[in-house]
Amino acid sequence: MTNELSMSVAIKLQEIKSHISNGVKLIAVTKTKSVESIMEAYKCGHRIFGENRAQEMNEKQLILPHDIEWHFIGHLQTNKVRFISSFVQLIHSVDSVKLLGEINKQAQKNDRVIDCLLQFHIATEETKFGLNLREVVSILDSDYYQTLQNIRIVGVMGMATLTNNTDLIRQEFRTLKKSFEKIKELYFKEDSYFKEISMGMSEDYTIAIEEGATMVRIGSAIFGERN
Ligand SMILES: *Cc1c(COP(=O)(O)O)cnc(C)c1O
Repeated sequence: MTNELSMSVAIKLQEIKSHISNGVKLIAVTKTKSVESIMEAYKCGHRIFGENRAQEMNEKQLILPHDIEWHFIGHLQTNKVRFISSFVQLIHSVDSVKLLGEINKQAQKNDRVIDCLLQFHIATEETKFGLNLREVVSILDSDYYQTLQNIRIVGVMGMATLTNNTDLIRQEFRTLKKSFEKIKELYFKEDSYFKEISMGMSEDYTIAIEEGATMVRIGSAIFGERN
């Protein structure tokens, strides 16, 4: 059973990597998956993993090898930031100025700068978290944002609608790319670190890459369906 599982993780990972262009980072999403499953991908040389629950990520980080790059990808409550602030590599899902302030505070306590992406709401579903362009502009224009010395915004993230309508998905990814370009032009023109567009999951990552993704977040296509 273990052999069958490990074989399939290795093969699926290989298969997906063959579809991902050079320069696009693969975040292997391991939420709900065991440390054994993560180790299967690790043994294939993969080092970048994504989780959407702070405590779960903290527990896994303590057990697993320390050269893993941990990315936080889900909605993050301010009172949970402290569970990940000492080690997280990138927080993809910043969706409020309050959260940004708390990340800054926890980063300061750990004497580090935490890289963040601003999550845009691009889907038609109302349940998905995220900011619109106007809200992002108001954050970046604020005096408060200027005081945050322990966070660095390196790009944007978004989730497309869960649908079979690939035209709609493509349109949503295009909207995110346009927002990225606008923000870059207005606030980060000279900043080479502002370059990341995190979009695309198991069902839509090939479209996302065609539309300019620099990071894709893929879970079930590597590790199988979640319970
Ligand atoms: C779960 C999750 C993913 C991965 O989803 P799959 O469909 O399993 O690839 C990507 N991004 C976010 C924000 C997620 O919560």
